[in-house]
Amino acid sequence: MTTSKIEINLTNSRKEKPNEENLVFGRHFTDHMFVADYVKGMGWQNARITPYAPISLDPASIVFHYGQTVFEGLKAYRSKDQSIRLFRPEENFRRLNQSLDRLCMPQIDEANALEGLLELLKVEEEWIPKLEGNSLYIRPFVIATEAFLGVAPATTYQFYIILSPVGSYYEEGIHPVKILVENEFVRAVKGGTGGAKTAGNYASALKAQETASSQGYSQVMWLDGVERKYVEEVGSMNIFFKIDGEVVTPAINGSILEGITRKSIIELLAHWGTPVTERKVSMDELAEAHNSGKLEEVFGTGTAAVISPVGELNWNGKTMRINDGITGALSKKLYDALTKIQTGENEDSLNWITSLSPTYEEIK
Ligand SMILES: *Cc1c(COP(=O)(O)O)cnc(C)c1O
Repeated sequence: MTTSKIEINLTNSRKEKPNEENLVFGRHFTDHMFVADYVKGMGWQNARITPYAPISLDPASIVFHYGQTVFEGLKAYRSKDQSIRLFRPEENFRRLNQSLDRLCMPQIDEANALEGLLELLKVEEEWIPKLEGNSLYIRPFVIATEAFLGVAPATTYQFYIILSPVGSYYEEGIHPVKILVENEFVRAVKGGTGGAKTAGNYASALKAQETASSQGYSQVMWLDGVERKYVEEVGSMNIFFKIDGEVVTPAINGSILEGITRKSIIELLAHWGTPVTERKVSMDELAEAHNSGKLEEVFGTGTAAVISPVGELNWNGKTMRINDGITGALSKKLYDALTKIQTGENEDSLNWITSLSPTYEEIK
């Protein structure tokens, strides 16, 4: 986006809003979307807000064949004073640029992208759920639109932001999940695209996810692609362990997606005076810690669930129950602290929130 002027074209047929009591994740979309076009040599242009509608693309568009596409995920919350709050949105646009770079796609202007998002939120303000725990999920993404079957970076792209009202991840409060440690398939290897939020990573994960679901597990835990020994992450979450009082998480190694929730937990714990150790964590270490009663808590972190406690890990047919299958004290404390900052119940002491007042002035 070379210019920050955003053209706004409003729909004259607003959709009926879904019932907030039973919102399913990612099923409902709002009335408008943000779009910008990129042409090589000319940069980003035509930033606009238009009615939400199907996209018309040439069947030869590179995105369909070679997967040149990246995305982001974040949420807007409505606080009790009716202001609209975004959690660290600049981090998402920064990461979008990292993903774009990995896929040989053009960089976006992060400030203009955030401005586009804020404009879109003003237009769609009524879609931000009011029920406690609900939020508006924000999905920015970029696709390669050039019609060309040669394997090369496209010369034309589109950047979209779409919005979806979503329910709380936990219908009856935070509760632990069961996770299967994946031994057959791998998600990513060093040098691959694991550190980017790009479609191919998720398509290639479906097979393992399908098996895990059919066995009653909610997600898979990925191991490193070389030795199948060290923990990487879980589904679309990063993972933390509390072992004998110490909080540890796998270090960023080029194949793990660097979560913003992960980063926030590390910063929050440092702020509280309990630093997190970022290092390699092997399954052998976890099994040993479990055997000796030292594996105190396990939890995943990501935008969707914020904190997802793990009550059971299955590795090679053996089950490790963690904290008797109930939510640990640290997991609960972190969940409460983060969600209260997000919704404005607690002070934003680490300066993470960008907010729009109900009269739409940016008040950060
Ligand atoms: C998005 C994502 C995460 C979590 O990132 P957040 O920024 O915390 O939402 C973790 N792992 C994968 C594979 C992801 O796609």
